[in-house]
Amino acid sequence: MNEPDIGHMKAEAYREFEAGNFKRAAEVLIAVESRIGSYDALSNDIAVAHFKKGDFEAAIGKFQEASELQALASKLIIDNLIEVMKDSREVSMQPERLPEEEVARQLSRTFCPLCGSADKGFQALPEFYRKHAAEHGFKHFGRGEMTAHETYTCIGCGASDRERLYAYWVSSVLCRQELSRKAKVMHFAPEPGFSRWMESIGFTDYQTADFAMGGVDHQVDLMSLPFSTNSVDFFVCSHVLEHVIDDRKAIAELFRILRPGCISLLMVPIISGLDEIDEDPEESRESERWRRFGQGDHLRLYNRESFVSRVRGAGFEVSLLDVSYFGAATYQSLGLKKESVLYVVKKPEMSNV
Ligand SMILES: [Zn+2]
Repeated sequence: MNEPDIGHMKAEAYREFEAGNFKRAAEVLIAVESRIGSYDALSNDIAVAHFKKGDFEAAIGKFQEASELQALASKLIIDNLIEVMKDSREVSMQPERLPEEEVARQLSRTFCPLCGSADKGFQALPEFYRKHAAEHGFKHFGRGEMTAHETYTCIGCGASDRERLYAYWVSSVLCRQELSRKAKVMHFAPEPGFSRWMESIGFTDYQTADFAMGGVDHQVDLMSLPFSTNSVDFFVCSHVLEHVIDDRKAIAELFRILRPGCISLLMVPIISGLDEIDEDPEESRESERWRRFGQGDHLRLYNRESFVSRVRGAGFEVSLLDVSYFGAATYQSLGLKKESVLYVVKKPEMSNV
């Protein structure tokens, strides 16, 4: 029997992928895998095909496998490099300066969970932010815990680095059934791309809310929400609290509306290495806000400790999910800087509010 060779099978898979036949593309790639075994890029491609055809559980499993294979490949290359360097009398051994990140970068393909593009890559943060920071003398520019300046925007869909991490994490909690598509979801200050993605993945009760933004389901003041106690199963509130006059009041309201036992996503811009929070809700001069808080409509600049302590102060449990949780290869593929942290809050089961 004449079996097609691997090259032809791969070409067929990518043709099917291009044509939008993701199920067929996944089948062919799996057939390739069964003949030649797994390697990171192939597992990644199978994962993307699963993702595109809507099988998130299979996609996450394959992404994890790709991550592990990629980490293994990085380690092999690093080990070989060390061997080569040991053998060379010309080069001194400085393992702490090995280009591990460079190796990982070369091995890695980029992936955006919002648009599903596997190799489009990312663009740097718009120059506008750097210029404004310099003009106003904002001295913490570039020290944001999360903002990846060089890989900020997905070329495929415009999603920011944090939106890519949110979508990746939401996919994974849906797969692990820690979150249901039947959950009542409230998305505050919805980021357009992430909001479209949230709608597209099939939540049956997805609503949006904001103070000033048009086109949302609810016009709300975060310090006094018009929602019943324990009425929301999952909220996303990202980069909102730094705009609010009394953030403790807002966090208390978020705590009140969340149903006990439920998790949610609560994020603010955090400056790495900042000793203490800098805030002044009374400051109304825009240029002064730019100088101190890094944006003309921000009222404070958080450090990690003050943010976590305010969130815990309201009664939430807080999990800080970082690169050790998601894996270095996943961060690399998503274009995240390695200091990035996802703040997941939980209202304890036994809450009286
Ligand atoms: Zn994208």
